Amino acid sequence: PDSVPRRRDLRLPPDTTREAFDEAIAALREALGSDNVVLNDQPLVDGWYIEHPNTHDSFHVVEQEDLVCSAIAYPSSTADVQAIVRWANKHAIPVYPISMGRNMGYGGSAPRVPGSVVIDLGMRMNNILNIDAENASCMVEPGVSYFALYEEIQKRKLPLWIDCPDLGGGSVLGNAIDRGVGYTPMGDHFANHCGMEIVLPNGELLRTGMGALPGKNGEDNPTWQSFQPAYGPYSDGMFSQSNFGIVVRMGFWLMREVGHQMYMFTFPRDEDFPDIVEAIRPLAQKGIIGNVPQLRHVAQELNVTGLPKSHFYSGSDPIPRDVIRQHASKMPCGDCGWVFYGTQYGDQASIKTQLDIIKAAFASITGTKFYLPSDLPADHYIHSRALVCSGVPVLRELDWLNWRPNGAHIFFSPITPTKRADAVTVHSINVRLHEKYNFDLFPTLCVAGREMHYITNILYDRSSVDEKRRAAALMRELIIETAKEGYGEYRTHLLFADQVAGTYNWGDNALMRFNETIKDALDPNGILAPGRNGIWPKKYRGKGWEL
Ligand code: ADP
Repeated sequence: PDSVPRRRDLRLPPDTTREAFDEAIAALREALGSDNVVLNDQPLVDGWYIEHPNTHDSFHVVEQEDLVCSAIAYPSSTADVQAIVRWANKHAIPVYPISMGRNMGYGGSAPRVPGSVVIDLGMRMNNILNIDAENASCMVEPGVSYFALYEEIQKRKLPLWIDCPDLGGGSVLGNAIDRGVGYTPMGDHFANHCGMEIVLPNGELLRTGMGALPGKNGEDNPTWQSFQPAYGPYSDGMFSQSNFGIVVRMGFWLMREVGHQMYMFTFPRDEDFPDIVEAIRPLAQKGIIGNVPQLRHVAQELNVTGLPKSHFYSGSDPIPRDVIRQHASKMPCGDCGWVFYGTQYGDQASIKTQLDIIKAAFASITGTKFYLPSDLPADHYIHSRALVCSGVPVLRELDWLNWRPNGAHIFFSPITPTKRADAVTVHSINVRLHEKYNFDLFPTLCVAGREMHYITNILYDRSSVDEKRRAAALMRELIIETAKEGYGEYRTHLLFADQVAGTYNWGDNALMRFNETIKDALDPNGILAPGRNGIWPKKYRGKGWEL
């Protein structure tokens, strides 16, 4: 059911009486206008990707009502954001900024501390502040989605590409500060940002990079979107995956339009996996592979069709390997082990040369087959992949969710070196633990020259308490087992943030002690996104908040 009566009343911020809360909310309404502060006291609706809630995590791993905010505030300007932060300090109420809240699989729009006030930046702060066609860069507010930026560039007929992740509805800014990735040569979103404007937890305003140097006559600095680090410590990184500030505008580099060719390789056997990884590494290090390609297990060819698991298999256990084989053999990929989606960029002649080199390298794996989009049917997934890899936002990746009824997912995303032994270690842990917890294994590897993001998509039925419990238990054990071997996640769902942060504990937790020192200096009252990425302000530490 989409909407059921709430079992609990409005969730108050910690240590706050209803009376104090009502008083504080009245003051916030005074500051922002009463329509721009909304209480979260209505039934919760999970909605779907496009109509997603800002009241809770719609892909709940725990109970739907567990990760909820008390209210949502809609600022329209930087000054509004500053006012909210000052209000939060005065009333000792935690606030949790989101850009658009489409961070599905990582917590959506939910705050880590239930009862926080969510600052929904994206709703009213959604301006593309600048597109500099000559510099191939832009400056956006939190509410600018990939679709919006793409459409504006098309409207102005500029020869520029954006870089989008698998789904195009998210915030360009929000995804970058959560260090999300895309698939053109500019797929590392944080690495391709240039300049930030940030509201600090005390309400002060900060510009990073060249933006710290005022332009002539009070204008923005002319090199703000040209040069990243400027002078002194490079502070931008501190505002990604953290709770040290609220980013209210951010600059990005855009890619020049260029020729491109999508392609697919299939590799016949599951056991080819380590050889594929070894073959990709030199190609990526030499810069011959044009983007961050994806290597997917053939099981994924089944679920990207958008058909439910029940279409392929009626059992409740993970879909057996021979059943996958049986279906794959009737599909365009054929009976194979792994499928590689890559894109080459440049003019036709250089793309041909690059593809010849790649084909020669993969030919060392017997039985490898090569396909162009024109070899595959019009409804094949490769055509949507070709759009993503040339900077066109899509929604096709949502089809995965059909695998389970009431489909939701969490990602397990460790980083490994692009090397045979490491890849096999992490993959084996995944195989073993997915079996133990009775889940289908859907690994996608984004393979670069020195590291791979090994991402498994754990798909579950969010109406099933048992499936959710098993999904969470699987995540916890995956984190433990991979950390024992020395691997860590690049990003995780809110609920696992403490556990993942805890694995980065070299030198008696030196990194976390450093983060806490910064947190306490910038946010002495602990109002900004307490617990995000496992960083708890002094006020919360040692009081049982860590999960
Ligand atoms: P999406 O870009 O997918 O819509 P969100 O808006 O949910 O993603 O952002 C992902 C996470 O990053 C949020 O949960 C929040 O913790 C953090 N975040 C998003 N936007 C900001 C921002 N402007 N300032 C600080 N933190 C932010």
